[in-house]
Amino acid sequence: MIPRMPPQEARLGFIYSAPFRIQGVSVAGEQAVVHVPELDLVFDIGLCPRPTLASPTVALTHAHMDHVAGLPYWFSQRFFQKMPGTARCLAHPKMVEPLRRMMASWVDLERQKTPHEIVPIEPDSDFQLRPNMAVRAIEVSHTTPALAFVVIERRSKLKDEFVGLSQERLRELKSQGTEITRTLEIPLIAYTGDTEMGDFLLRDEFVNAKVVITECTFFEDEHRDRAKIGKHIHVEDLRPLLEAWKAKDVVITHVSRRTLIPFARERIEAIAGAERAQHVHLLMDHRSNRARHESQVAAVENAAGNAPSTDAAFVETDAASAETDA
Ligand SMILES: [Zn+2]
Ligand SMILES: [Zn+2]
Repeated sequence: MIPRMPPQEARLGFIYSAPFRIQGVSVAGEQAVVHVPELDLVFDIGLCPRPTLASPTVALTHAHMDHVAGLPYWFSQRFFQKMPGTARCLAHPKMVEPLRRMMASWVDLERQKTPHEIVPIEPDSDFQLRPNMAVRAIEVSHTTPALAFVVIERRSKLKDEFVGLSQERLRELKSQGTEITRTLEIPLIAYTGDTEMGDFLLRDEFVNAKVVITECTFFEDEHRDRAKIGKHIHVEDLRPLLEAWKAKDVVITHVSRRTLIPFARERIEAIAGAERAQHVHLLMDHRSNRARHESQVAAVENAAGNAPSTDAAFVETDAASAETDA
């Protein structure tokens, strides 16, 4: 008997919520890594799928092995592959020293230094990703110090009292030192990390985020205690959250391996209703996500008069339509 070939490696889950690609692998206790190329950001780095090397920043929610194990390898590979930009990991201030010690021990093991930055991010503070975009840390409640992250875009908007004035008048006001604009904060993507239910998940940043990526580890009724002990979200906790969050898409991660996808879908529909559930996606539900992606591609092709689609056309068209929605 010839033995069977080994199973293929875990495929990346993929959800396109215009204009963002949300891709990664997330299975409770095994690995959690969610990459958003459009933000140049990786949330957690449980293992190190190759596409994550393209982005220079990891926002680490907490230091459980399933979230942090890929970090030294990610730093090392980014250096080895000569990726541009200094690789950095944003982490809870209480985790910074242990993470630095972990990286230092790799120097002893490898007899070489891998460039890296471990950057503390205080709860309720922002780290600037681009001139108009920052990631904010929000303290959550888990069995280790833990953060959620929200990526926030800042847009300056004309103050209401100046709307309708001529450009000339506005320039004049500005030159006299009048502040004619105010800054709007638009939460783009919120990521819970591992946490139990808490009011922090009902903060404005979460309520108004365009996309929420949330853990939901347990779905069985008899696992409510386990969720409480491990400080994780149980599907019942999602009931008020899905009501409060205005996100057009909610992406569920960190589902335990023993939970069957159809059962999880059933439970989500039961608590959210069929209509809302259509906008709640399981990152690792490859079959549904592939069907959804195919229908997204088909819709763009139809709109373009059956012209052959390219990736660029796909992203542009959808981004444009997202803007008119907003
Ligand atoms: Zn975890
Ligand atoms: Zn954890």
